[in-house]
Formats: sequence, C-alpha cells, structure tokens
Amino acid sequence: MVFHKKATRNEVYIVAKIIDGKAISAQIKEEVKQQVARLKAKGKEVTLAVIQVGNDPASSVYVGNKKKACEYVGIRSLSYELPEETTQEKLLSLIDELNGREDVDGILVQLPLPAWISEEGVLERISPSKDVDGFHPQNVGALCVGKPGLVPCTPAGIIELLKRSGIEIAGKECVVVGRSNIVGKPMALLLLGENGTVTIAHSRTKDLKRVTSRADILVVAVGKRKLITREYVKEGAVVIDVGIHRTSGSKKLCGDVDYESVEPVCSAITPVPGGVGPMTIAMLMHNCVESAGKGFN
Ligand code: NAD
Repeated sequence: MVFHKKATRNEVYIVAKIIDGKAISAQIKEEVKQQVARLKAKGKEVTLAVIQVGNDPASSVYVGNKKKACEYVGIRSLSYELPEETTQEKLLSLIDELNGREDVDGILVQLPLPAWISEEGVLERISPSKDVDGFHPQNVGALCVGKPGLVPCTPAGIIELLKRSGIEIAGKECVVVGRSNIVGKPMALLLLGENGTVTIAHSRTKDLKRVTSRADILVVAVGKRKLITREYVKEGAVVIDVGIHRTSGSKKLCGDVDYESVEPVCSAITPVPGGVGPMTIAMLMHNCVESAGKGFN
C-alpha cells in the first residue's frame, strides 16, 4: 500500500485516486507563465525554436499544441517547417545557426524524422544548454550522475504528478515497464534520484506479471494497448500509464494499461487521456524557462 503524504504549509497536493494530469499541468503552466513574465521584466524574452521536417499529420498536431502552449505562457515560438526532402546537412546547418543565436533559448526537433536523416546525429548537434527535450547525451549523463541539466519532459512530468499528488517515492518499489531513451530509462533514473527502489522491465523480461506485481509505483511505457491488466498490479499500487493509442475508427484514446480492470485495485491511477499526456508539454515549457533563466536570476 502506498501512503499519500499530508500537505504541509505552502504545499498544495491534489490527493485523489484518479491523478488529474490536466489540473496539475495547468498549475505548472501558471507557474511557468509567472516565471516568463519575471524574465520579461528583466528584459529577457524566452524563445523556443520548433523544427518540423515534412508534414506528418500526428507531428503537425504535436507541434501545434506546443506552439499553443508557448503562446499561453508567453514564450515566443519560432517555427521552422522544412520540406520532407530536406537533407541532413540542411537540418544540421539550421541547428548550428540556432545554437549560435543568443535570442534562442530552446531548440526542439519534432520526431520522427525522415528515414535518411540520423535522429541521433541531429539530437546530438543541439547545444546541450538549448536541448529542451533533454535527449542530448550530455544531459542524459548529467541525469545519470545527479548533476543539473535538462530532463526529458515525459518522465519529469511523471515525477511532478507523483509529488504534487502527495505520493511518496523514497523507499518504494518502483517498476518501470519499457526502456526507451525518451521515457523508460530516464524515468528509472529519476525515480532512483528520488530514492525509489527501481526495477526496469522490458520486452525480454521473463514473467512480467511477477515483476510488476511487486510494484508500489508502476510506470508503464510500452506502446502496447491495454497490456497491463488487473493480474499485473498489486492491490493498492500507484499506476502511471504513459501509453497513448487511438482506437481505430473512433476518436477515443486508450493507454498501455487496461484502465477498467486496474482502476478498482490500485490506490491511484492516471487516465488516458488527461493523465501523463498534458504533463509533457507543461514540462517542455518549464525546460524553456530553465534554459532561458540561466544568468537572469
Ligand atoms: P518505445 O517503442 O521506444 O519503447 C517501448 C519499450 O517497451 C521498449 O523498451 C520495449 O523493450 C518495451 N516493451 C515492448 N513490448 C513489451 C512487452 N510485451 N513487455 C514488456 N516490455 C515491452 O516507446 P516509448 O517511446 O517509450 O513510448 C511508449 C508509449 O508511450 C507509446 O504508446 C507512446 O505513444 C507513449 N508516449 C507517450 C508520451 C506522452 O506524452 N504521454 C510521451 C512519449 C511516449
């Protein structure tokens, strides 16, 4: 059983069984808005450059949402829409230009990129201090050794969800299912940084049910719809569902967790939509301010 911490003075927790990512992300965006305004008052305008290659419809939706969030919190966004046939050299030279611009604080390259462009090469070209996605090896290394750096948005958002819901991490059995560089691995490092006892499970894990059943906090980032059913979850566990799947032929979304069967046995759970999803963009805004704020505090 995971116990929820009581709020002390100055701490506002949203304690509920259904963890409301919409409300918590709105809270974070309000905080970011104030930070952006404070920087503006000191003469610093926070600026994010967003690069999209090609016009994949899903990517266009994500990029549109990021720009909307920028507008809401007062961050200036610069848009670079490059044609599908863009070469790696062209993209790298744009990144070099943006790296050199003092008025640009964050650079985001929307993934996936066309097959002939090396994602790794592109992400590594972004200056670590402007890497608001937190994917550059220097930022990953900083996270690994517990030094300050820009942290990947989705796992950083999950830590905020847990903390702002009053859920203690220290000493808890934390199981992360999935080991991607974007979610699973940084998630495990962040939970470890919060003194959780962390296990990573993945596609080669034997007897996944046995592993997930010991979790007090279970984070699922697999990309397989409704993989985690009631049998995988210990009674009273906190369940965080990172997966997003569109049900074919309808606009309804579902996650990697079978919400209907898991919700009755857990102590807290993130819904899909309205759980982890909104946190990713809120933390991107947070990272932009983090990057812009250096030297302006
Ligand atoms: P990925 O495909 O890069 O990684 C999936 C991981 O799951 C791999 O490490 C693999 O080893 C593991 N895996 C696959 N099948 C498994 C199985 N049967 N049992 C145990 N482990 C298994 O995916 P990702 O980028 O980490 O994303 C995972 C999911 O999260 C996707 O649905 C994605 O759409 C979603 N996502 C959501 C957000 C958000 O903002 N909410 C952000 C990123 C990703």
